[in-house]
Amino acid sequence: MRFKPGLTAKLTRHIVSNRAKGNKRFALVLMLEPTFKCNLLCEGCGRIREYKQDIDKVLSVKGCLEAADECGAPIVSICGGEPLVYPYIIELIDELTKKGKYIYLCTNGILFKEKMDMLKPNGNLMINFHIDGLEKTHGAITGFACAYKKVIEAIKAAKSRGFFVCTNTTVYKKTEPEEIKELFRELHGLGVDGFLVSPAYEYVHVGEEFFMNKKELADFFKSLQPEFKRYRFLNSPLYLEFVQGERRLDCSPWANPTRNPVGWRSPCYQMADRHFATYKELLEKTDWDKYGPAGGDPRCKECAVHCGFEPTSALGGGSFGDIMKLIKWQFS
Ligand code: SF4
Ligand code: SF4
Repeated sequence: MRFKPGLTAKLTRHIVSNRAKGNKRFALVLMLEPTFKCNLLCEGCGRIREYKQDIDKVLSVKGCLEAADECGAPIVSICGGEPLVYPYIIELIDELTKKGKYIYLCTNGILFKEKMDMLKPNGNLMINFHIDGLEKTHGAITGFACAYKKVIEAIKAAKSRGFFVCTNTTVYKKTEPEEIKELFRELHGLGVDGFLVSPAYEYVHVGEEFFMNKKELADFFKSLQPEFKRYRFLNSPLYLEFVQGERRLDCSPWANPTRNPVGWRSPCYQMADRHFATYKELLEKTDWDKYGPAGGDPRCKECAVHCGFEPTSALGGGSFGDIMKLIKWQFS
């Protein structure tokens, strides 16, 4: 089974109940950014650049819990910034766990060993390590030569403590397929429970030379087909077909809303045209038709990031065949 049975059951109940209430748009995964601060300086990172003015702002634990309650998403992805530099991270995880949320703690791993004694493995917590290549590449992308060594040590430590461990790999224009294949081989050997992979988004603050266009993406992801069969990927089969250019998928940015110290980011995790005080306002005041593949906003044209398009597949894709494909995949 790809995901914990409790998580799948909770997500399914949540989707069915929202549809029964006639809700057209609702949250599946809250992207919670309690802090913008990070102990790395990755070259493809939009966050640490676009919020330079607000880098010292943090969300209180109360503010984080209110966001989780308001949007009602059964899954909370704690990201940022680096969540382990957030001073109240342990309290936040404990409180979200008490609320029955499934939590992805997205970390670069640098501080993990230092903090892990305070973290208790539980059925709701998944540690998601960010790793973009082997030693030299990951060191170059993160601007820290020891970043790879640190994250590998953290993965080993997390596995030995009994945590559910997954990894998230962002691919850039210069990412070599052979290197990524070797990376998955190594991570599989360490017992990593699942892999996530996503193309990088072309943040205006970063520079377009780092990012692949859709054609380059399709070629890149097609070359990973044997890996998709061999290893446990947490990306859905519909999303993997989409990034290989084999199918259309809509974007559902409202299903993975981002709450950070400035507010609810509109329209999506990648773009910040506005911020709102509540999720309700985000839903009501964002002109959703302007965005996504059919929306005509030029910034969406080459976007294929998993947090925009995966929710569409979690919502069932577009047909009965898609739903059957997802059920088969979950049980594989
Ligand atoms: S570790 Fe994450 S938040 Fe920190 S700089 Fe890198 S991409 Fe940005
Ligand atoms: S396609 Fe969707 S996720 Fe991507 S930038 Fe546009 S609105 Fe955001």
